[in-house]
Amino acid sequence: MSKRVDTKIIARSRWYAAYEAALVAECPRLAGKVDWDTANYFFHLGRDAKEAATLIARRFNEEHKPRCRHRDDGRGRCIDCDEFI
Ligand SMILES: [Zn+2]
Repeated sequence: MSKRVDTKIIARSRWYAAYEAALVAECPRLAGKVDWDTANYFFHLGRDAKEAATLIARRFNEEHKPRCRHRDDGRGRCIDCDEFI
């Protein structure tokens, strides 16, 4: 294995470690449940590990918050979440 590849592998594993740490810090429920496909995607985009993790943690928290009970604003839209109902 070439030196260049080694450096790449090290950089990659550092990125993944930073990503996981930031993700779990932001969203403890994701401990041990990291979606590595998504992580991989951000890694290849060249995104900052912490930035990517924060984005994913926020998305997860958003998706797993208690469901909105929806209150019609009278125009077919929910007052609370702005979704069409
Ligand atoms: Zn709603």
